[in-house]
Amino acid sequence: MSAACWSCGSALAAGAPFCVACGKVQAPTADVTYFDVFGLPRKLALDTSTLERAFYKLSRKLHPDVYARASEREQQWSLEQTSLLNDAYRTLKNAIPRTEYLLKLEGVEIEQDRASENGAKKESRMPPDLLEEVFELNMQLEEMRMNQKMGEDDPQLRGDLEKAKTQFEGQLAESDSDLQKLWVKWDAAVDADDEASQADAKNKMVALLDRRRYVRNLVRDVNEALGA
Ligand SMILES: [Zn+2]
Repeated sequence: MSAACWSCGSALAAGAPFCVACGKVQAPTADVTYFDVFGLPRKLALDTSTLERAFYKLSRKLHPDVYARASEREQQWSLEQTSLLNDAYRTLKNAIPRTEYLLKLEGVEIEQDRASENGAKKESRMPPDLLEEVFELNMQLEEMRMNQKMGEDDPQLRGDLEKAKTQFEGQLAESDSDLQKLWVKWDAAVDADDEASQADAKNKMVALLDRRRYVRNLVRDVNEALGA
């Protein structure tokens, strides 16, 4: 059963902040998603300027001044809807948080960022194709730290690390464009109601984000060693 407007009784779209029939603000529902807030389907290739315009439009409609003479509960709901709207916008406007959020809605547990000293955990999630590069990098990082402890500088080693860093940053940029291709695949699968294809896109996005997180940590480790 879909919910009904408290004021006029019209049926409401899932999680809609307002009734389209009478315009009254609604209480946020417990299972509302950030996509519902904007009346969007669970798709990923969002036009962020359209999202921004929708955000400002909703923000204005929910502004406390508008509710100065409204009932106490409507004032309360407008505040709750505003805070929900802010969270929704912050999450959906950026590529990685948006993708992670959708994957979470789809039942995927997203691994949170780990501290860099948590070596064992990091090792276990290393993408296999990076094995050699990471092995070499770790040796160089170790040497760099040793040098620093001894107060020595090795320009050759520093140069190698700079080079490695540039290479990993290139991989990050590449993974961003790969991610956009997976968004298109996901969105098409949603439109076609093709569950197998959705599952495939979902798994590939999870793997891509894992790898991206891993490479980003490598870049951070190199930056730390270089004293950047
Ligand atoms: Zn209504």
